[in-house]
Amino acid sequence: YVSKVTGNLDDCACDVETIDHFNNDQLFPKLQNLLESDYFRFYKVNLNKPCPFWTSSSHCGLRHCAVKPCSPVKCIKISLCFQYSADANKQLEECEKEQHLGAVDVSLRWVLLTDEKKLYYSSNLDLTVCGSADEASPDSQYVDLLLNPERFTGYKGPEAWQIWNSIYEENCFKPYTVKRPLLPDSFRSSSGGEARKFYSWLDGQCVEKRAFYRLVSGLHASINIHLSARYLLDDNWFQREWGHNVTEFRQRFDSELTAGEGPKRLRNLYFLYLIELRALAKVLPFFQQPSFHLYTGRPEEDKKHKEQLLQILQLARSFPLHFDERSLFAGDEKEAAKLKEDIRLAFLNISKIMDCVDCFKCRLWGKLQTQGLGTVLKILFSERQIEALPMSSNQRPSFQLSRQEIVSLFNAFGRISTSVRELKNFRSMLAEER
Ligand code: FAD
Repeated sequence: YVSKVTGNLDDCACDVETIDHFNNDQLFPKLQNLLESDYFRFYKVNLNKPCPFWTSSSHCGLRHCAVKPCSPVKCIKISLCFQYSADANKQLEECEKEQHLGAVDVSLRWVLLTDEKKLYYSSNLDLTVCGSADEASPDSQYVDLLLNPERFTGYKGPEAWQIWNSIYEENCFKPYTVKRPLLPDSFRSSSGGEARKFYSWLDGQCVEKRAFYRLVSGLHASINIHLSARYLLDDNWFQREWGHNVTEFRQRFDSELTAGEGPKRLRNLYFLYLIELRALAKVLPFFQQPSFHLYTGRPEEDKKHKEQLLQILQLARSFPLHFDERSLFAGDEKEAAKLKEDIRLAFLNISKIMDCVDCFKCRLWGKLQTQGLGTVLKILFSERQIEALPMSSNQRPSFQLSRQEIVSLFNAFGRISTSVRELKNFRSMLAEER
């Protein structure tokens, strides 16, 4: 059934086999390498923001939901900047501005100092708002992503459903409400009536709203692939074993067990992959600016990692069957502006809902991936600004990305790329079972 996810991907002229080959054999290994570098492994996030929508019940006592703090040895560079007093927070801001943690563009410091907000947040479709409050918050902390891999945490049941429910119902432009709580696969009632109703509604939507739903669904699929691929298989006094749980995977994605929904969700994952890949291809000129540096304080390594990053973006450019985002927001200008605003607000809302995720590990990756997707959309709709980027550092650029956006962009894509790679593993395991 996984292999049934083949053929044309609806809104783009691409097939799954092409993506599999491109990702698994070329892009995935390079990207994994880059994401292990210091620049990309530390993500600044506020995990203690209260949920703005309802009273969070449990704060999740699950052991595997805990987020490990930054290890002092690995975070030595960060600890230079990160302390707890008000003074130290000021110092932290200075560190960020001075690019000590590897921010964007050393030569643009004058712009950072004079007009920081505008520089960071200017864009045609400004989605930076998703992460900006976190970045500025004194409660934010650096998290070492390598110490906190996305995997099975045991977070499930009504709390998790409430989050997914809110995301789909309030942000995917759905015209009707599915009865709460969204119980496992409530869309697939025995008659299939709910599913039919949902898909006929979805088909009637404009391409932008359909695309938005598919992006969220693709993200949901990726999270569930990760928890199935890094499942807690054994947990006792003597050992803890993480690995692939084929039964879990099958329950979530098997065509028969999900009344046909599983393969559609996997297709949404591939759709999300294409959208993110397209953004990487488009943003190349930004990273090619001579004034752009990855700065972690080790010039040799930083130079090497910048080269690796450029190679990945060149590779993304070379992908032969890119999604054409010009089909989005192509209609009437007023309508397009309204749609963009709807999408911006939906994104803002989803990022707020992430503060309601009781499991901290899930919240961490949820926030990172939402910010990453926000950055993807910001890139896709800033094409003109990216093309107009000045090659000399004296001019003010009209497009900019903050360090947080860069880290979330690449790590979010790393998750989707890993999911595509994991599908290959599950496919082989299922074939062996037969
Ligand atoms: P759920 O995945 O909770 O789905 C609820 C309903 O949504 C399903 O019944 C189905 O009707 C529909 N649905 C399912 N998948 C899709 C899709 N792809 N597209 C459209 N509709 C769909 N758990 C972990 O173990 N580790 C994690 O890191 C983790 N991170 C999470 C991050 C967030 C932001 C959230 C909200 C949850 C996270 N979870 C994580 C929990 C996990 O996603 C599931 O909610 C949980 O495993 C329970 O799964 P379920 O089978 O009840 O269905």
